[in-house]
Amino acid sequence: MTESSVSLWGQWEVVVGLEVHTQLLTKSKLFCRCENRFGAPPNTLVCPVCLGHPGTLPVLNGEAVRLGVRAGLAAGCRVSPVSTFERKHYFYPDLPKGYQISQYAQPLLTGGSLRIRTEAGERMIRIHRMHLEEDAGKNLHAGIPDRSHVDLNRAGVPLLEIVSEPDIRSPDEAVDYLKRLRQLLRATKVSDGNMEEGSFRCDINLSIRRPGTSVFGTRVEIKNVNSFRFVHKAMVYEIERQIEAVESGEKILQETRLFDPVSGRTKPMRSKEEALDYRYFPEPDLPHLVLSPSLIEEERLSLPELPEQRVERLCTEIGLSRSDAEILVAEESLARYFEEGLERFRSGIADEEGLRKVRERWTSFVLSEVLRELNRRGEEVLSGPTGVTHAVDLLEKVLGGSLSFSQAKEVYGRAAEEKKTPVSLVEELGLVQVSGEGELLALVEAVLAENTEEVAAYRGGKDRLFGFFVGAVMKKSRGKANPEKVNEILRNKLKG
Ligand code: ADP
Ligand code: MG
Ligand code: ZN
Repeated sequence: MTESSVSLWGQWEVVVGLEVHTQLLTKSKLFCRCENRFGAPPNTLVCPVCLGHPGTLPVLNGEAVRLGVRAGLAAGCRVSPVSTFERKHYFYPDLPKGYQISQYAQPLLTGGSLRIRTEAGERMIRIHRMHLEEDAGKNLHAGIPDRSHVDLNRAGVPLLEIVSEPDIRSPDEAVDYLKRLRQLLRATKVSDGNMEEGSFRCDINLSIRRPGTSVFGTRVEIKNVNSFRFVHKAMVYEIERQIEAVESGEKILQETRLFDPVSGRTKPMRSKEEALDYRYFPEPDLPHLVLSPSLIEEERLSLPELPEQRVERLCTEIGLSRSDAEILVAEESLARYFEEGLERFRSGIADEEGLRKVRERWTSFVLSEVLRELNRRGEEVLSGPTGVTHAVDLLEKVLGGSLSFSQAKEVYGRAAEEKKTPVSLVEELGLVQVSGEGELLALVEAVLAENTEEVAAYRGGKDRLFGFFVGAVMKKSRGKANPEKVNEILRNKLKG
């Protein structure tokens, strides 16, 4: 990973296709009635079907099919009226049947796309297909020395595999694609997208070529990368490894590699020669999956507002900037907090001008204070003492003039820290905004007297110094002065 190889990126084009495996939010597993739940004691959510006992028969979970269809519709895929299930064979201790039931010849969904936005601009990433399959169990290597354990709670959990076309051109684009895909799956309640718990995992297929070439280079597949940060790191490493190899005359081997988060490198797992032959064949115990047009229609009609539509609405109806709207929608729970709060204000305010002011304040408050506390402390700040009703009460004080905005912001942080309602803290701390003419006038005069040079400069035409005076007065009042009144008084005083 040298400086020079970074600058060489410009002479190479990166080509990436992603395969995402996401666990579906069903109550039970894909082919049996065992509970689909993370975190239970090992091997407590199992039955003869998901343990792969001979003679048992799979029965398809209708809810998993609906969730798959919903995800597909949200991404503009074509829903196959008939799709098929196949057995994919390989040996691994976490796969008791010796094969995984997947969809191969005819997947549930084909086509579709996702719009991404990066610094390089906006692009569509095409989706090749989405299909249903069952998850495998998990091998546990920690605990007793020299032993490994197998937990089959995850065996048979429904997965949707989402395969993109090789349309992605950089690590940033890959991460943006994954974030938007996860957002879409969460908004439609198809998956919780929890990456720590493994319900959203990603394989990266990556190759390089000279810009302008029409054929693709040989690709390497990096298996099971489980965080956005690791996806980015793994790609940067792999791009530089491939560039260095090709430029020193080596050939890229088609192989499967693993990313090691500790070293930040990818290392070979198996080559094409060692590639598994899965010997796909039709699953004899499951009939073709035939979907009625009415089921597809029902799912289409029950689709909620999608993240992209929400961003659009927040921009056009509420007047947010695109970047503010994107930040909000990226955190669904924050977007809900924001909109609920706005609704509350709205019911109390009738005039347009008043609403505009409230909207500005509330947007800035949510995107700075609430977002910071959310990042710092997690979802819990969005309910309880710092929940939306209490935040609105706090801002009401600012709008009513009895508290300054900066005081409100400070109080909110403390409220989150101390798990108290902000308004009770305001009372406890005896916070009030200084709005009295006399007091403010004294503050302004003191500031002007301390800064005679600046006053002269301002009067001589340096308009930009106005902010400096406001800041100085606010500082002198320790944030308590009512900034609007300060503005007014300063303007008068500075006139002459
Ligand atoms: P499989 O892994 O079953 O062989 P595919 O050949 O369909 O599946 O490809 C899997 C993924 O690899 C897809 O996301 C596809 O876009 C991507 N891909 C295919 N060829 C390349 C390539 N030359 N460079 C980068 N990605 C590729
Ligand atoms: Mg693959
Ligand atoms: Zn089971």
